[in-house]
Amino acid sequence: MTGPKKRDLTKSNAQFRKAVKRLPLGVSSTFRYWGDDRTIYVDHGKGGRTWDIDGNCYVDYRLGYGPAILGYADDRVDAAARRGMEVGGVFALSTERELTVADRIAKMVPAAELVRFSNSGTEAVMAALRLARAHTGRDSYLLVEGGYHGLFDAAMWMANMEDWDTQSDRDPEVVSYGKGIPRTLKELAHLVPMNDYQRLEDTFRKYGNTLAAMLIEPIQGNCCAISADVEYVRLARKLCDDYGVLLIIDEVKTGFRVGKGGIQGIMGVRPDICTFAKAVANGYPIAVVAGREEVMRTFRYGGASHGGTYTAHSVSLAAAEECLRILDETPALETIADYGERLKAGISGILNARKIVHSYTGHPSMFGLFFAESPPNNYRDWKKSDYSFYDQMAYHLHDLGVICEPDSREPWFMCEAHGRDETCLSDTLKAVETAVDL
Ligand code: PLP
Repeated sequence: MTGPKKRDLTKSNAQFRKAVKRLPLGVSSTFRYWGDDRTIYVDHGKGGRTWDIDGNCYVDYRLGYGPAILGYADDRVDAAARRGMEVGGVFALSTERELTVADRIAKMVPAAELVRFSNSGTEAVMAALRLARAHTGRDSYLLVEGGYHGLFDAAMWMANMEDWDTQSDRDPEVVSYGKGIPRTLKELAHLVPMNDYQRLEDTFRKYGNTLAAMLIEPIQGNCCAISADVEYVRLARKLCDDYGVLLIIDEVKTGFRVGKGGIQGIMGVRPDICTFAKAVANGYPIAVVAGREEVMRTFRYGGASHGGTYTAHSVSLAAAEECLRILDETPALETIADYGERLKAGISGILNARKIVHSYTGHPSMFGLFFAESPPNNYRDWKKSDYSFYDQMAYHLHDLGVICEPDSREPWFMCEAHGRDETCLSDTLKAVETAVDL
């Protein structure tokens, strides 16, 4: 690949060679492996930037896949986390702060009548699906193509776009994400393409009476921030009501980011169950499953099981208390969205000057950049587009000190610290200008 002078990754490369002897692929999450000579090891992050162990500094639009909503090492949240640490960690008992944080969530998200804490998005969505199954007595569920809901077996079914013929009318095959997912689970998972009203109605007509839940990310945080039409989500709500199916809105990425009340607040659609994780505590591990009282009370002895040694850990909970206070009581979310708007405008200025056709998906606080005139309606549209230009640009940006995911399906994430440091914007736009000309 031609491009700007490569960053010096001597130390990261050496670390990789040592780490791979002990850690599969040299990392703790497969998605962090970017190739033997491109896998980066971080020294630290502060604000909207990350420094690797070679001393390279990046304006960071990955933010750990979204959690660092205020920026890395936020002094306010970290001070709160330290106070949480002084409490003592885990007790296998409850603390008063659980209610304080749950009250804040219920205030920000009206559908969150009752709240349970989990440790990760995966755990929260897994609990949400179990809850829906326990409440309805049904096992099947409906997913939207391009959605991602975590690493538990039931969520690991996807539309196989690799082998899908974009010209054919045939639906893409449903396959598991990788190996190790029991094949017998496949028959429980149904998939529909986003924003295809007819297929949604047909699917409910066919399977509606067997479905426990429909899971949807109205902005797909792992698929180029492709967005559902409000009308589509309203139709999903109506069909769920008609067939006795619970609507789960997965706000693991959108929650407390696109608005105080999440994407459900913006769209005005009330789910039965919703899940949150990333932005809850600015990166401290905590997640939330919340919803309608009658449904949530199914978490009981003899009902749906839920628990976990580390749930509502005192450090994460104290961090959540402060992070949510900031998001609720200060203009942080406006600052973040404003930065995203300015970044998009700046990138468009550069691309328009070169007559490079493009569009954006999602919300200014988490957007996808798409090299076609109109944004994709669903994953099938994305597959039909040419994303090689994006991939190439992303790698050039890394070499120029701007880090985004080298896969256009992962949106760019903004944080409050980006908006408070004007050099983030100017450094990014300088890099974009160079990258698109290479
Ligand atoms: N749901 C959505 C929408 C996500 O984006 C993710 C992770 O990216 C998850 C669930 C799983 O969350 P976690 O990685 O915290 O387990």
